[in-house]
Amino acid sequence: MAEFVGAIDQGTTSTRFVVFDAAGRIRGQAQKEHRQIFPRPGWVEHDPDEIWENTVEVVETGLADAGIAVSDLAAVGITNQRETTVLWDRVTGEPLANAIVWQDTRTDAICAELAADGGQDRFRRQTGLPLATYFSGPKVRWLLDEMALRQAAERGRVAFGTIDSWLTWKLTGRHLTDPTNASRTLLYDLAADAWDSGLADAIGVPEAVLPEIVDSVGVGETCRGPLEGVPLAAMLGDQQAALFGQACFQPGEAKNTYGTGNFLLLNTGDAPVASTAGLITTVACRIDGEVTYALEGAVAVTGSLVQWLRDNLGIIRTASEVEELASQVPDTGDVYFVPAFSGLFAPHWRSDARGVIVGMTRYTDRRHIARAALEATAFQTMEVLDAMARDSGTTLTELRVDGGMTRNEMLMQFQADVLGIDVVRPAVTETTALGAAYAAGLAVGLWKDRDEVRRLWAEDRRWTPRIGDTEREHLAARWAQAVERSLGWA
Ligand code: ADP
Repeated sequence: MAEFVGAIDQGTTSTRFVVFDAAGRIRGQAQKEHRQIFPRPGWVEHDPDEIWENTVEVVETGLADAGIAVSDLAAVGITNQRETTVLWDRVTGEPLANAIVWQDTRTDAICAELAADGGQDRFRRQTGLPLATYFSGPKVRWLLDEMALRQAAERGRVAFGTIDSWLTWKLTGRHLTDPTNASRTLLYDLAADAWDSGLADAIGVPEAVLPEIVDSVGVGETCRGPLEGVPLAAMLGDQQAALFGQACFQPGEAKNTYGTGNFLLLNTGDAPVASTAGLITTVACRIDGEVTYALEGAVAVTGSLVQWLRDNLGIIRTASEVEELASQVPDTGDVYFVPAFSGLFAPHWRSDARGVIVGMTRYTDRRHIARAALEATAFQTMEVLDAMARDSGTTLTELRVDGGMTRNEMLMQFQADVLGIDVVRPAVTETTALGAAYAAGLAVGLWKDRDEVRRLWAEDRRWTPRIGDTEREHLAARWAQAVERSLGWA
């Protein structure tokens, strides 16, 4: 019997294929980077054909690495970089342009024009999103207009998809997406769980280009090509896959991914929660037609501040050295570092903020600066979680963490201290691929239900708060004072 599950993890810089066994452990994997195409300042593109070719290659090399055949796979799941937009010809199956990547800001003018009538939050009630170049809808409009594809689109010749759709099309010939990806387009109504013709009209996207929305978790089509005969059983955007991979299935459960920046998602259950703090409302997953929603918040500068210490200050040679340096002092000596290099995101949303280091004395040295830089990641995470708790009315009992910075034990301990709850790192830190695998395995019955998956999910380390409420409140108040100093500089 087929006892393995494959996860295609199509990310911004590379494509991976990871094979998991029935115990949820990694048995083999392969990875390949693709080109980042920068035709003009602010523009970022990927070649959809290259992404497909890399997918085929990593599937083959990943299976070989695991030492198994395609027929040993019980199911495959897809997780993907979100919002990145592909258009292709439904008749020839060929891409009509390079994919416009989520980071691309060419739709600035379209977003400004749309915001002129009703503001940046014009579509927030329905979509959970602010009007921003990040999301797919304006990218589709730009491509249709600039490539003179609107008429063909209205006649039904043009297909739009995010990367999940593009890969599904290549693997099965069907034009599908799931609600976690649909909810990033500005074209999808969260409460109705459907495309919305009013939104499509307003943004200028003919409904004929849109994929059919299917469950995130569920047995769908059977693959052809490199995964011949394997059921495609899951589609999840990358951050939602990480939430699933952290087994955060219940309302009130949250994960934080610490990478270049941080991504926090909180499961809020079966109703979308509107944010008053500038968080995004999004879909966590859809199973058997039932939608689970999430609140999402991002912190722009976290791991990249460690890179900045390395590259701009030169006080460390590698990212991992920061821990050793910062550990040489017991505290920052009351120094705070607010890395508002490009303004502050949620919950402040102040583009006029700039970075500050406050509280220095003659006694301060690079060890204190390094420590304050690490603490900044923990404080910024605290602010987003506080906003999530206020918006959702839930209190977290623990935070599940993943990503490169979670190797830093000192940071994880400080995170637990300032949050006042346990911080937990799982045994498998490839949570994005793991989430797609959990989802696909569940869909085909390799695992009976989410409780069984929850039991598979294994803890590696847990950090418990070591400070009391008075000290925590003091730290939070000092941080708030430092943030005040950073505002209004630009
Ligand atoms: P991404 O997926 O965003 O590329 P990763 O999850 O690979 O990021 O994490 C890399 C980030 O983590 C880098 O910004 C790096 O500076 C930071 N980092 C890596 N190791 C450590 C460490 N031991 N302590 C603190 N930061 C670290």
